[in-house]
Parts: sequence; C-alpha cells; structure tokens
Amino acid sequence: MTDGRDLITISRLRADQTCSRLHWFKYVQGFRPVHLSEPLRFGIAAHDAIERWWMGEDIVKITDSIEGKDEYLVAKLKATIINYPLLWPDRDAWEVVGVEVPFKTPLINPSTMNKSRTYMLAGKIDLILRNKKTGDIFPVEHKTTVIDFSTEDQDYWTKLQMDHQITAYWMGCQALGHDVRGMIYDVLKRPAQRPLKATPKDKRIYRKKDGGLYKGQREIDESVLGHFERIAEWINDNPGKARARKVIPRVEGQLKEGLQDIWDHSKRILLAEKDGLWPRNPNACHQFHTCSFWDCCAYGVNPAHDSRFEQLNFCHPELEGLST
Ligand code: SF4
Repeated sequence: MTDGRDLITISRLRADQTCSRLHWFKYVQGFRPVHLSEPLRFGIAAHDAIERWWMGEDIVKITDSIEGKDEYLVAKLKATIINYPLLWPDRDAWEVVGVEVPFKTPLINPSTMNKSRTYMLAGKIDLILRNKKTGDIFPVEHKTTVIDFSTEDQDYWTKLQMDHQITAYWMGCQALGHDVRGMIYDVLKRPAQRPLKATPKDKRIYRKKDGGLYKGQREIDESVLGHFERIAEWINDNPGKARARKVIPRVEGQLKEGLQDIWDHSKRILLAEKDGLWPRNPNACHQFHTCSFWDCCAYGVNPAHDSRFEQLNFCHPELEGLST
C-alpha cells in the first residue's frame, strides 16, 4: 500500500478509465516501471525545457544542453523545442505567476456542494500567466502529441470542451486564489519520423542508368545530424501542423458537468477500494503501446520482485511534497 491514496488526480482517473487493474498497480500498490516509454521521456524532457524557457533561459542554450542516451530522441527533441518560442511572439505581454504549481482542493459534488470525506482533488499546473495589460489570469498546459491538431474543428480541440484536466486545473487555479479567464493550450507535435535505416544488402536495387540506389533505399543509416535536419525541415515547412496555441474557455455549465464526472468517477474508485474489485481490461493491454504491467497480468510476474519496477511510498510522484 502506498500513500497519496486520498488524492484524486486526473492521471489517476485516466489510469482507472483505461483499466482498473492498472489503477490498482499504480495508485493502490504504488508500482511504477523504472524505464519510461519514449513518448513519456519525450514529454517530460519537453516540459523541462519549456519550463526553463519560461524561467528566462535562452532557448538555444536550453536546446544545446539537452542530453540523453538515445541520440536520435535527443535530436528529435532539439528540433522540436527550438521552435517553442514561435508559439509566444507576445511573450513580453505576459507575467509568469508560477511554473509547475501544485494545488490541492476539496473534491466537491456539484449537485449538492458537499465535500468528499475521502478525497481531495489535486494536480500540478504547468504554468500560470497574468496578462500584463488586462491583469487576466490564464493557466497554461503544455502538450506534445502525435495527434493531428492542425485545424480548428479537429477532434483534438473539440474533445477539450469536456476535458477533465482542464476542469480540474481551472478549479485548482481558483483554489489558489485566481479568477481564471481561460486555459491556454500550447501544443507541439511529437515528430513521428524514425531514424532511417540502411536498406538490407539483399534488398538493394540499383538504377541501370547511373548506378545509384532507387528512391527510398539507402546504403547507410541516417546520421543523428541528418535526423535532426530532416525533422527541422518538416517543422519549418509545416508550422500549422507542428505547433498551435489556443485559449480553451469554460462556462459554468461545463465546469459543473466536468466536476460531476470527476465526483462520480471518484465514487466508483472508492467502491472498488472498499470491495477490492480491480478487474483487468485486456482490450487496453496494447491500446496505444504495450502496458507497462503486461508481464504481470499475462505471465504472472510479481512487480515487487522484478527490477523493472519500483514501489513508491507516495503514488503521485509528480506531486512529491504535496503532503496528504
Ligand atoms: S496489462 Fe492489461 S490488464 Fe494488465 S494492467 Fe495493463 S491494461 Fe490492465
């Protein structure tokens, strides 16, 4: 058993929505995989870099300092992050109120306005900005994604109308004493390009006229610099697909509906805790990538006795320091 089980975060609800057993592993037992997936590593490194830029560091200096074992992933990150300031040409119009701001506020049933006796709503807001001219406050969420967000009516943006994280962070920001005017989403495309590999010798086809390889075939692996340049060129040629920034509004009815979802879902988790019911959802095991706990569910691996896992004392590592 792990501490922090009295905190409801949106990550926790998402884990339970994906698979109750996954929630049990992560938020009841406190297990986490030691090695993170590439999308997670990319997202965390991008967040760190963006945070440094908002704290006043130069983007070239930040980009130059990005390191890692996977040189191609580092190249991908550098090509992406160097463009982040282009999302904020009006940077000087904003005052930074806080970066990585944690909050903890009562979880409320919006139908009765009763507070939960079991749970608090918690989270960490990437950034809070104040518009210097109007004084208006906006929490900001940085996202990296492979999903296409290049047009206004895309599902990516429509879904945000009922996104629970926005509702929770809105409430969190209010609990910190701010009158929120809107949530700003700034989104960077996580490049899908993979390093190009040399064509296997037995598959290579050479043109008769000049002896060169056919299009799409290569004699050598793509270099790290070549990978960086190819991604940078794509970003340069596709600014609308590579980055976006929008203000997401919330009216009272949306907040109420979102809070009701969070309340109802938390109640389901409470019932599961009481009865110890954590059913597996095999449909989620390979939904986007293979679940970190696949070997536990499929082959009976005990994460307590496997070096690929660690057991945390506090099940919300992103909220370390926010005591329960
Ligand atoms: S492997 Fe499948 S059943 Fe097990 S926790 Fe992950 S998603 Fe759930």
